[in-house]
Amino acid sequence: MTLEESKIRLIMELRREGISDSAVLGAIERVPREIFIPSPIKTFAYDNRALPIGAGQTISQPYVVAYMTQALNLNDRCKVLEIGTGSGYQTAVLARLARRIYTIERHPSLSDEAKERFEALDLHKVVTRVGDGSKGWPEQAPFDRILVTAASESVPGTLLEQLGEGGIMVVPIGPQDGTQHIHRFTRTEDGIEDECLLPVRFVPLVESEVRDSA
Ligand code: SAH
Repeated sequence: MTLEESKIRLIMELRREGISDSAVLGAIERVPREIFIPSPIKTFAYDNRALPIGAGQTISQPYVVAYMTQALNLNDRCKVLEIGTGSGYQTAVLARLARRIYTIERHPSLSDEAKERFEALDLHKVVTRVGDGSKGWPEQAPFDRILVTAASESVPGTLLEQLGEGGIMVVPIGPQDGTQHIHRFTRTEDGIEDECLLPVRFVPLVESEVRDSA
């Protein structure tokens, strides 16, 4: 099977599994996942599973990328914050649907490689940063949407504070080796709404220790 054939098979599988937003499916169809995957395993690019990308990290399963993207309910006016650039695949999918993406990765090597891919794909609306994403990006807040692609042990309060009025944050929450769930938080006039959506397995969100700068 060629990559193109396996991509069509994947899109049909996502549809069957309940991804109904045609803009999301279109974005998945237009982003070449093979570019985000190490050479020896490129043939598995359109398998519906997570794959290793180096630095002990993984590129998320296409279903989970599609599911989280659909849950964000994006439009082309959205300013998005993403935590956990990883390979940059999810970022590239977001970039097909939103106005601007600010993405943070703690591993410099992964961030550099992702940045090269964004340049190769002409994705100029993506801004990258190396650092601890659990602190968010205060200089650019508020955001219309926030997506966290690593599992947080508890509700990431600092990120919620950077979510604008009417904004949506999608984040996996749960212990490192227990059950995690994707949550969707919506900031409404009356406060924060919390929906628990889907059980998942993500690598942990690693928060840097607070250090004195003295
Ligand atoms: N969305 C990625 C998959 C990310 S895996 C993709 O499509 O390829 C989760 C990523 O979060 C890893 O690359 C990991 O290094 C990063 N990460 C974990 N904790 C982080 C933190 N506190 N700040 C920024 N990035 C973090």
